[in-house]
Amino acid sequence: MVDATAEKGDQSLIDAVWAALAKVQDPELFKDLVTLKMVKEVRACNGAVSIDIDLTTPACPMRSKIEKDVSDAVLQIPGAASVAVKFGASVRPSNDQRNILPDVRNVIAVGAGKGGVGKSTVAVNIAVGLALAGAKVGLLDADVYGPSIPIMTGLSDAQPSVVEEKIIPFNWGSASQPIKVMSIGFIVQKEKALIWRGPMVHGVIRQFLEQVQWGELDYLIVDLPPGTGDVSLTLAQSIPLTGAVIIATPQEVALADARRAVRMFQQLGVWILGVVENMSYFVCEHGTRYDLFGSGGAQQMAQDMSLPFIGQLPLDMSVRINSDSGDPFANFSGKMQPQMTSMVETLAGQISIRNLTRPPGKAVKLDISA
Ligand code: ADP
Repeated sequence: MVDATAEKGDQSLIDAVWAALAKVQDPELFKDLVTLKMVKEVRACNGAVSIDIDLTTPACPMRSKIEKDVSDAVLQIPGAASVAVKFGASVRPSNDQRNILPDVRNVIAVGAGKGGVGKSTVAVNIAVGLALAGAKVGLLDADVYGPSIPIMTGLSDAQPSVVEEKIIPFNWGSASQPIKVMSIGFIVQKEKALIWRGPMVHGVIRQFLEQVQWGELDYLIVDLPPGTGDVSLTLAQSIPLTGAVIIATPQEVALADARRAVRMFQQLGVWILGVVENMSYFVCEHGTRYDLFGSGGAQQMAQDMSLPFIGQLPLDMSVRINSDSGDPFANFSGKMQPQMTSMVETLAGQISIRNLTRPPGKAVKLDISA
């Protein structure tokens, strides 16, 4: 028999929990969890409360803080004896109409002012970190002038197959949460890729977006060529980008180019999600830190340009070895794990903020005269 008094008590406890959650703020988005529609379900049984919360990204950096704030708020309610929080994640989609990739929720461009600063390395590690956090991830190597993703993923000799006029990307990484990888390097030899010109570049990028079977993705990470050229232009014209991440070293020459890249993206109407400083410092085997390229320059640049700072990665031999051997997953279990995870979480947070605050998509007027 159903105990009507107990049921009534549970319902009033559930109501009290909803009211309490309406006062718990997301630490990054500065709105309460109910307004943000992050609370999916509240259950109560004899004082035991369980809550389902949807994070705005699987890699949410604020997960443990949200869990603590929720527990603290709920346990203050008379009659609430215990609280269990279960997290899920639904990645907010871009809300632009002119979308040729409707099943891809976020397209993230990774750019740099100049070559050799570690842009591809960071792009690959962002993809790996997001996949490890449980997201569905694709990685598009659009660096038509020097594709390095085939080597960094250990797929150098791979040949993509074509099924019903669609190119099938490679499933790479873990079997349970593979990353879908496509690179110009799978299709043409590196030496040939170097001579590509504007209209051809436009064609191949459109093909990568329209003809590759990306399927449903939370994040598509696009590794752009360095500088400010045709690929960025085609990408920004073709799909609604969630935003761009700019990679720079602390060196002044790299920063001057990085500033130019930021301005170009802004001119194209692309949101800048933030700046990553790579090769920030080197720690020798005796523990001494050397600021080989100066110190904190990219962080300063981000501050000067009012951009989020996503994180610092040191110059470390393990990063280079894991790239060359096609195993960047090892960066997330070795000594670089704290920096790598922090970078990915901070970026995921910025993507959530962007999606929450972005205005409805509107056509971008391009000035390509510069
Ligand atoms: P870009 O895409 O900007 O041209 P890459 O990502 O190809 O640069 O990196 C250039 C080289 O530097 C690669 O050999 C890569 O393994 C190495 N590298 C990049 N970042 C680091 C780092 N933080 N520590 C050690 N080596 C790095």
